[in-house]
Order: sequence, then C-alpha cells, then structure tokens
Amino acid sequence: MTDLHRLSIRELSEGLQQAQFSSRELTEHYLKRIAKIDTKVKSYVTVTAEQALAEADAADAALKAGNASVLAGIPLAHKDIFCTKGIKTTAGSKMLDNFISPYDATVVAKAKAAGLVTLGKVNMDEFAMGSTSESSYFGATGNPWALDHVPGGSSGGSAAAVAADLAPIATGTDTGGSIRQPASFCGLTGLKPTYGRVSRFGMIAYASSLDQGGPMARTAEDCAYLMNVIAGHDAKDSTSINKEVDDYVANLNGTSVKGLRIGIPKQYFNVSGLDAEVKARVEESLKKLEEMGASLVEIDLNMTEAYVPTYYLIAPAEASSNLSRFDGVRYGYRCENPVDLMDLYKRSRSEGFGAEVQRRILIGTYALSAGYYDAYYVKAQKVRRLIQQDFLKAFENVDVIAAPSAPTTAYKIGANLSPTEMYLGDIYTLAVNLAGLPAINAPVGFDKESLPVGLQLIGNYWSESQLLSIVHQYQQNTDWHTKRASVAEETA
Ligand code: GLN
Repeated sequence: MTDLHRLSIRELSEGLQQAQFSSRELTEHYLKRIAKIDTKVKSYVTVTAEQALAEADAADAALKAGNASVLAGIPLAHKDIFCTKGIKTTAGSKMLDNFISPYDATVVAKAKAAGLVTLGKVNMDEFAMGSTSESSYFGATGNPWALDHVPGGSSGGSAAAVAADLAPIATGTDTGGSIRQPASFCGLTGLKPTYGRVSRFGMIAYASSLDQGGPMARTAEDCAYLMNVIAGHDAKDSTSINKEVDDYVANLNGTSVKGLRIGIPKQYFNVSGLDAEVKARVEESLKKLEEMGASLVEIDLNMTEAYVPTYYLIAPAEASSNLSRFDGVRYGYRCENPVDLMDLYKRSRSEGFGAEVQRRILIGTYALSAGYYDAYYVKAQKVRRLIQQDFLKAFENVDVIAAPSAPTTAYKIGANLSPTEMYLGDIYTLAVNLAGLPAINAPVGFDKESLPVGLQLIGNYWSESQLLSIVHQYQQNTDWHTKRASVAEETA
C-alpha cells in the first residue's frame, strides 16, 4: 500500500485491527517518507527509527493476540518539549542539545500505554518562545504549503510533520497560541484544552500558569482520538484537575450546530493588522456555520488591547523563574573552563540560550524585581482577571466565540519581524491562555498564495467535546481539511 499516509486515525485503527496492514508496515512507511521528504521540510529533530520499529512489533503482537487498544500501532510525533526516557529532549535549545531525560512525560507515558508508536521528536521555537519555529537551535522548519515560509510556532515541527504526512498525529503545547497558530499556518486542526485537562508533568515548563499540551492533526476526529489518550488527572501535576474525562470520540456528534450561538467579538474584526483575506475566509466559514443552523451574535470583548502587554509580562516573568534551573551545574550545556562559579553560571546561560530566550528572561526578571513588581507583575495579574471576567460575561449569552487564530497567513522564513511585530501576531490566541479556556483551530480555506487560513473557536471551561464536535460537523460539510500540500503528495 502506498497511500497509508492518507488514512485517518479511525481508518488506521480499523485497518490495524482488521489486519489489513501491520504496524510495522505502517511505521516503515512513515520512516521512509521522513527519510526522503523531511530533508526538505526539516520537521524532525530526532527520528527514533529503531525504537519505533520495536514498538510497532509490540503493537503487532498485541493486535494478533486480540488485546490491543484502539490506537495501538499508530505512529505519532512528539513536540521536543515532552520528556522522553532514553531519547533526547532538546526544547529546541543548545542548552539541552544532549539532554536525555530519565523519565517520560505523562503525555508520553500515556501515548506509550495506548500502544502508539513514537516516530521521533519534532522541532519547535527554543523553549516554546516564538511564533515561527525559527528560534530553534536546530534551524528553521519549512511550511509544507510553501517551504520558504514558516510553519508557525512554537509547535511548528508538529504542524509541519502532520501537514507533510510525515506523522498522522502529533502532540503540541500551547502557552499563548503554540498549537492553534501553527495549526492555522499549516491547514490543520489543533486543540488547546482547558488549563489542567492535560498533565504538564514532564513537559518542559515555559510559563506554568499558561502551558497546556494538546493534539494536532488533520481533523477534529483525529484530535478526539488523541485527546482520549492524553487527557485526564495526574497526581504528578499539582494543577491537573481531577474531573471526569469525556469520551471525545463518542461525543463527536454530541453538539448540535443548529441553534448554536456563536459570539463574534466586534473588537477582534477591527484589529489593524488583520489581513483582508484572512478576514474574508473566516467570515465565509462563519457563514457556513450559519447555514448549518448556528446564529451569529455580535459581542464585546473590551479588554482586547490588553492581551499582548499582559501576556508579555506574565509569560516572561514565569519563564525567568522556570529557566533559572538551567545553570550549567546539574544538566544541560556547560561552558568550557569556567574560572569560578559565577563565570560558570554566566557563560553557560549566555552561550546556551538564544537571543529570544535571553530577552524573555531579562524582561521577566525586570518585571519581578523588587522595585517594579507591583507596577508590572501584580498589575498584569489584575488585568488577567479582568480578561477572564470579560470572557465569562460573554459566555452568558453565547456558546462559543469565533476569531481568526492569527491575523495573517504564514510569512517568509527570515522575514525578521521585530520582537514587538511578532508579539502582535499573537493577538487572537493569548487571552485564551490567560483565562485558562479551551480553543480549537480549524482550516477554513486559503489566501491568494495558497497558504492556509484558520478559524478559531473559543469555548467555556471543559467544553473540549463541544469544540471538537462543532468542528467535526463543519468538516462533514466542507473539504478544507482534505486538502494536501504538494510535498505531502510526494511518495517515498
Ligand atoms: N508566540 C507566543 C510566545 O512566543 C506563544 C508561544 C507558545 O504558546 N508557546 O510566547
């Protein structure tokens, strides 16, 4: 079979369970594609071929014995921020270039227990700080739709790998948009769950009060399958919530689009940097949902202007604290021939961290320093609460809120946006993390250059099933999610 990479997760599961093909065949098929096509896309930092084939054989044995779980034998790629025992975990940084974790992240352990086969670890912005994946120590990843364009970030490797059919599904993390924006740039479906739904244990911390892992795939249905594996309480993560987990697959038709009230924030569609074609495609998708029976309700989200400054104080503040553990002493990069302890700290961190990470550490340290703590950090926390309240008020009148995931489509690699220009590109995603809400990106068409556009739907707390269900039904009525980039059409 040459087109195994065209199958959905449900079709892969059925094919494996009915022995139409083996996990070894499927895994070899993907490894072959990676060996050929990823030389252009550059989505993988580490390919774990040998281990993947061993995992595939174990899955095949379980399938043969008739005791395999539903995803057993299906390959996936992990963002290189999830710790993997025995495999390098770099977080896209020179600091962790040779780091091998002694344990698996909970998400990784759950995927293994479900019989999923790890193809490897995929590229990302250094320590998940960025929107292009260019800040990776391992170089830029190409957008499968136009290889000289960025795939978005920070989970750009995850998005590019799935969009080029180099993995059927991938994990990502979203601190301020890092699942939704690359999903948008690469024409994929990506879900950022409610804060606390997916364990952060073993997920290298960027900003702990915002970080959340989630699935990236072609469709809502594929995302639902992965969510069924990774969601749930974890005693090892103190912010993980002990709440029953939905069966996301069983609920795919559980929400009716008929009668659904979709909030359209006035302020969002008047943002100055919003590209006209992105706006048009998003409006067309909303029209489609309207045809399917939803009603569009104009709403106010008055705090919109505060999103970027609030996030870009809180996230760096938390990062400056989280990243203090990388000191050149216990693990990670260590400078050569330090003259004393201070020199060891200073040079290990200056040489091990890239420019964007250093910028964030400096901003965060400044915001947390004694004289400025109240003026910046405490104030940002207060504004954060107002942003959350703004959403809760909106949800009194609407079921979900619609927005673009990003104001533009993917830009060129090396476009060299200034940090503030890049931060402004996060306008539509940051508030969701500040409020801890779930949100999903769905592909809804293309711009003139054939680059994908994404629609974002934001839900109330714990509405993952609802978001997946709405997008699933949209995908039953449209075919944007079936479009393939030309590099994905190549055979290995
Ligand atoms: N682009 C945002 C940032 O640079 C979000 C990144 C993320 O979600 N990890 O912080």
